[in-house]
Amino acid sequence: MSAPKPVLRPIVFREAEIADGETCDVLVVHDEIVAVGSVNPPQDAMVVDANGARLLPGLHDHHIHVAASVAAMQSVRCGPPEVTDLKGLGQALGRPGEGWLRGVGYHESVAGLPDRHLLDELASHRPVRVQHRSGRMWFFNSAGLDILLADHAPPPGLERQAGEWTGRLFDEDSWLRSALAATPPVFDAVGGALARLGITGLTEMSPANALVEAGHFAAQMVCGALPQRVVLAGSLALGEWQPQDRLALGPFKLHLHEAHFPDWDETLAAIRAAREQGRGTAVHCVSEAELVFTLGLFAELGVTKLDRIEHGSVIPDALLETLLHMGLPVVVQAGFVETRGDQYLADIPQVEWPWLYRLASLQDAGLVIAGGSDSPYGGADPWAAMRSAVERMTLAGQLFGPQEALSPERALALYLADPFDLGRIRQIEPGVAADLCLLDRPWSQARDILLAQRVRMTVCCGTVVYRADD
Ligand SMILES: [Zn+2]
Repeated sequence: MSAPKPVLRPIVFREAEIADGETCDVLVVHDEIVAVGSVNPPQDAMVVDANGARLLPGLHDHHIHVAASVAAMQSVRCGPPEVTDLKGLGQALGRPGEGWLRGVGYHESVAGLPDRHLLDELASHRPVRVQHRSGRMWFFNSAGLDILLADHAPPPGLERQAGEWTGRLFDEDSWLRSALAATPPVFDAVGGALARLGITGLTEMSPANALVEAGHFAAQMVCGALPQRVVLAGSLALGEWQPQDRLALGPFKLHLHEAHFPDWDETLAAIRAAREQGRGTAVHCVSEAELVFTLGLFAELGVTKLDRIEHGSVIPDALLETLLHMGLPVVVQAGFVETRGDQYLADIPQVEWPWLYRLASLQDAGLVIAGGSDSPYGGADPWAAMRSAVERMTLAGQLFGPQEALSPERALALYLADPFDLGRIRQIEPGVAADLCLLDRPWSQARDILLAQRVRMTVCCGTVVYRADD
């Protein structure tokens, strides 16, 4: 069942810059660009005078976690750069209130791996849960633990030492969801925030996504809470989903963790099963060992056009050659250079620095790369990530692999890639979907400093979802 389509007014962008030095009119009818050139506006058209400002294909975030991003907006920050020590953590968690307090973005540089006794000292007045910024670990105080264990048997990932629960939970998100009886969140805050950034498409990358989550996305899109087009990656169970208008089926997400690699044969079977569903496989690779494991899998199975690497945080030259040979694209998070760069420089041996969060050298070698935020684990603003790709500067002002810097044009292109063909850059041309991002000035001026505030209007599927002058 698909929702009734709203009646949309045609839109004419007058004198929009669609390529450097090329200005023309662009006509949108219903959800499609139908003419580019000199246009006679239909009578009922909405006319937008671009006055030479750049009209871009809408940006696509190629790696995001929408539900977790909503939750993060409703949570307190517990890690760098906002919180850097025990005192700051106490202030973040000590806020008055009732019911669960949810902390996010924790990193062990703040106070190691906290146990429930430490959290009790900081906050015993209400149940507290704090998520590690990797998304793979939770820390609970005693009040929080009591609630969880009241009706639910403890899962294997709940740590026990000397016969006592420590309050640390590893890789048990589905157990946690059922123990919290969490209702899925409303997406409107995230949908609106992304529209203001010029984002018209998302690839949702949570590995547990299955039919229930797909149904929730569909409902949130129909009611307008999430105006963007969505490519939904996730589990093999998602393969039964019947793709809809704006909600497409994305790759099988394989979430590796080098401390516990999955069974080799089972993993090969899972990738084959994804292919039988017409899907690629997106593999989470943040370490050299994970990349080696992944390249081994693809060496055995070959690579399809829909397979991809997520993050590619560490890519030594020797593995780059194999990646190139296989033609595997990498979805990068350029924003981490700014927000996490200082931590990496402190934690990672200097000999490995040249392999961290590479950009320009990957492209120069011929590898396809595209950009994703990994929000909420990274910031959702693609313009901030583009600046980070251009400047390669950490928050503390240290240069981080400056040889990997991209030009503003190449940084922008990370978000213009076609989500089903990452090597193809979408264009403003007749016959393509009307997903558009109008800036407030020509590109020759916008490129000097890439800022979200320069987005003047965002159009998703022919509907205006954001106007700066509203
Ligand atoms: Zn992610």
